[in-house]
Amino acid sequence: MKHREILLCKYGEIVLKGANRKYFEDTLCREIRHRAAAYGDFDIYRAQSTIYIEPKDELADMDGMFASACKVFGIVAVQRAAVCEKNMDDIKRVAKDYIPQFLEGKKSFKVEAKRSDKAFPLDSMALAREVGGYILESCHKIKVDVHQPEVVVKVEIREFGAYLSAGAFKGAGGMPVGTSGRGLLLLSGGIDSPVAGYMMAKRGVKIEALHFESFPYTSERAREKVLELASILAEYAGEVRVHIVSLTHIQEELVKNCEEDYFTLLLRRFMMKIAERVAKYKGCSVLITGESLAQVASQTMQALCVTDSAVEIPVFRPCIGMDKEEIVTISRKMGAFETSIQPYEDCCTVFTPRHPKTKPELEKVLAQAAKVDFDALADEAFESLYTVNIEARY
Ligand code: ATP
Ligand code: MG
Repeated sequence: MKHREILLCKYGEIVLKGANRKYFEDTLCREIRHRAAAYGDFDIYRAQSTIYIEPKDELADMDGMFASACKVFGIVAVQRAAVCEKNMDDIKRVAKDYIPQFLEGKKSFKVEAKRSDKAFPLDSMALAREVGGYILESCHKIKVDVHQPEVVVKVEIREFGAYLSAGAFKGAGGMPVGTSGRGLLLLSGGIDSPVAGYMMAKRGVKIEALHFESFPYTSERAREKVLELASILAEYAGEVRVHIVSLTHIQEELVKNCEEDYFTLLLRRFMMKIAERVAKYKGCSVLITGESLAQVASQTMQALCVTDSAVEIPVFRPCIGMDKEEIVTISRKMGAFETSIQPYEDCCTVFTPRHPKTKPELEKVLAQAAKVDFDALADEAFESLYTVNIEARY
């Protein structure tokens, strides 16, 4: 017999938000509604720190909806559950017919019961015991292990019905996108910056992206790769606008006029300066980069100080304390890694100095910067800005 299924999305930190809680919950529900539209006809409602995603008919794509719900920041767990009536006969029916498919090949389970509807006659202890008994009647090889079960079966008696599920899936965690303001992500084609965008979106930041290219030193394919990365980010962060600015003339001027050892630092100061202008123009309060302390010459503490001193706007660097391996783990988790490692050139990799300064002194950097018309070049680059809109990909 086919069971009526529903998704229960549990939210985490939002529960702690006193007076603002409704605002966070509304944002989250809106996000889920947008996503659900791509997978069929669903009723979406909330009660008791849970968002219910209920298909209205058989045509709804529950697998697709489930995978999408697992990417919503603000949700800590997603349970796919069978719905039943709030009586023991129906609970027994579902425990015996629906749950066993999730226990096949498993050695142990335990039942956790939650009774938010206190009118239900059994308390949670008794309920868990009963349901465990029904499951054992259907599955003979499995054992109950309350300490380290392979699968946790949940039975919840809630406002609108009873729900049985096996194995909760970890949600994306964090805060709903849009509840923490807007940031401008400096997005390269590398591994680190998409991860930086993911991390900040996870804390609720709405992401706009800025990519610098250096045509013809960088190719059309390199730009395509960056747009593909933005679209992977958009699976989590929603719509991402990618602003593209050309650094070609700046780089040529640096090569012509400045000492080679300072190329990268000067270029980074240009990037920050232009990014600050784009941020102001697009209503972003902070810049976000994928820098990680000591990873390369331009990411030593001295180099980062020189870079930062080019701008007044705060720079968020969520990867700053992470090892490459930790960054790669997140990159894989978000599904960006395979795209990030495609070997296309970045504007930072053309004209790289052979001996970059790792302990730059600001005065010397400024003396080098004075050899070009910094403001005019930054203005000219800013004028080259054009925008590609990457739609939310659910
Ligand atoms: P990533 O893996 O993100 O490219 P990285 O370790 O290669 O980082 P860099 O190339 O020095 O380091 O860049 C440091 C940061 O500067 C990047 O994380 C990104 O935020 C920004 N950045 C670098 N290149 C570009 C670019 N072409 N357009 C926009 N931002 C860039
Ligand atoms: Mg890079």
